[in-house]
Amino acid sequence: MTDNCVFCKIARGEAPATMVAEDEQTMAFKDLQPKAPLHVLVIPRRHIASLADADDPALIGHLVEVATKIAKDAGYAARGFRVVSNTGREGGQAVEHLHFHVLAGRPLGAPWSPWDR
Ligand code: 5GP
Ligand code: ZN
Repeated sequence: MTDNCVFCKIARGEAPATMVAEDEQTMAFKDLQPKAPLHVLVIPRRHIASLADADDPALIGHLVEVATKIAKDAGYAARGFRVVSNTGREGGQAVEHLHFHVLAGRPLGAPWSPWDR
């Protein structure tokens, strides 16, 4: 846990978020500035800075599984969706707590256009 990490604060219930799903290891909540009709963030409850710092392949697999279930449960299996984890400065990561974006509901373009920055 990191005191000044916004996603740790959400995980501890100290900052608000619109929850979509939770289990023992993970939480999923709506992105504050959605870039698509469905835009959910899936995080591990414990602080891991990024994919580059991840040490638990089973947890990564579980996060991707949760992300996929959210897209499918929202009805996007056939239309398609995107699961992405921006990693590090040049990967476009702004919040340094590992998260997977789940994006769906509009054509997302090729290949990583939702952010355009
Ligand atoms: P990154 O650029 O690190 O991949 O994405 C960080 C994402 O977190 C952004 O899409 C941003 O809108 C979202 N975000 C940042 N702070 C908060 C917050 O306090 N609550 C929620 N729900 N989303 C946040
Ligand atoms: Zn954190």
